[in-house]
Amino acid sequence: MTTKYVFKLYNSLAREKQDFVPLEADHVRIYACGPTVYSYAHIGNARMAVVFDVLQRLLRLLYPKVTYASNITDIEDKIIAASQETGEAIEFITRKYERIYNEDMAALGVRLPDVQPRATETIPEMISLIEQMIARGHAYANEGHVLFNVPSFPEYGGLSGRSRDDQIAGARVEVAPYKRDPADFVLWKPSNADQPGWDSPWGFGRPGWHIECSAMSEKHLGLPIDIHGGGADLKFPHHENEIAQSCCAHGSHDLTSFSKYWMHNGFLTVEGEKMSKSLGNFTLAHDLIEQGIPGEVIRYVLLSAHYRQPLDWSDSGVELGQKMLDKFYRILDELSDVADVPADVPSSVMEALCDDLNTPKAYAELNALAKAAQDQKTPETKAAFVAAAQLLGFLGVEPAVWFSAGQDASDIDAAWVEGLLVERTEARKAKNFARSDEIRDELAAKGIVIEDTPQGPKWKV
Ligand code: AMP
Ligand code: ZN
Repeated sequence: MTTKYVFKLYNSLAREKQDFVPLEADHVRIYACGPTVYSYAHIGNARMAVVFDVLQRLLRLLYPKVTYASNITDIEDKIIAASQETGEAIEFITRKYERIYNEDMAALGVRLPDVQPRATETIPEMISLIEQMIARGHAYANEGHVLFNVPSFPEYGGLSGRSRDDQIAGARVEVAPYKRDPADFVLWKPSNADQPGWDSPWGFGRPGWHIECSAMSEKHLGLPIDIHGGGADLKFPHHENEIAQSCCAHGSHDLTSFSKYWMHNGFLTVEGEKMSKSLGNFTLAHDLIEQGIPGEVIRYVLLSAHYRQPLDWSDSGVELGQKMLDKFYRILDELSDVADVPADVPSSVMEALCDDLNTPKAYAELNALAKAAQDQKTPETKAAFVAAAQLLGFLGVEPAVWFSAGQDASDIDAAWVEGLLVERTEARKAKNFARSDEIRDELAAKGIVIEDTPQGPKWKV
């Protein structure tokens, strides 16, 4: 276990870069807000998954135990709308897009979180948190709704730094007769017979989005957690509301009693504008993978800017990513006769990543390691290069597989294999060995062998 590094993280709550000190010395607990599963993820959504994947890979080298939880929002009004539009059952939609999300992220080298809780499986915990907020005078029931009363928590706004007027404007509050204050937000709302719902002390209804994450993070990680994060657009109102709920349910006025550090990634943009479904300027990760762009190339681009900076998506960025990975794989191929020896990730790359996940700096160091390996062709320089690349999520396949991808229909599609491996891991977790054997056979038919390692399954042709 490496202990000589100090991880520094920009804490959005403290608004400064700080030394990371976990609450428990041997166990780091991270929560990142995951997708609402009603359609495909675009590459802006994927940026968060890739950034937090690098974070958890790094922390696993620094600490004996890391628990990384990232949720699936499978109850939300956008999902209900999608169900009404398509005529498909809600559960059909959510399970389908949850599976596709995991397959697409796996193609980008994102490891499954240790815990991936579903909101619909956390309803009793949400109800209990709401009851605690009501008991402490921070929430009230009215006309089948339960609302969080923002003026009851003077610390509200501490994360986003928004004034009360900004809070009201930013929340785009509709004046509703059941609200005591325009800034109050919904914890629970009534469902009609056509909408999904659960019985609760306030009638048949469903949770608001924000309470879902308060309940799931506490249930699976315990409070306070070390790092909570997501995209920068979640700071307000989502994360502000999560903090208010979790503090108030437990009678705390200390904002860090929910999460000690907050981490927010910047936006993926297109010609300077945020990529979003509503603007229509989005590119789906799924489509890029289907077009044959290797997942590692997409990942390379997503990590090419510092995570807090905006990152503009462009064809030239993708071309550069392809060129760089082709170069790395070519060097690895040239080193095929050099013995494989174990190696730690070199300090140059560790130090870059420990400096608030400075991936552009880590790329520069990776290039230097690639060059040293190419020039010196020793087992040590090869191992250092490979260890650094793999920490960043690159060089996951053999060079022969990399260079044969996409050449004709009989070639192996790495994204397809990765997707099946995710499904196989899930099947094995669920003790569905028939399905996991079927997947192994399906891959074997294409000449692919799976090797199970402590880091997860690896494959080769
Ligand atoms: P949404 O689908 O808008 O609910 O977003 C799901 C997740 O993706 C959230 O964590 C957002 O912060 C993040 N996200 C959405 N659009 C972008 C973007 N253009 N760049 C970076 N992250 C984004
Ligand atoms: Zn959340």
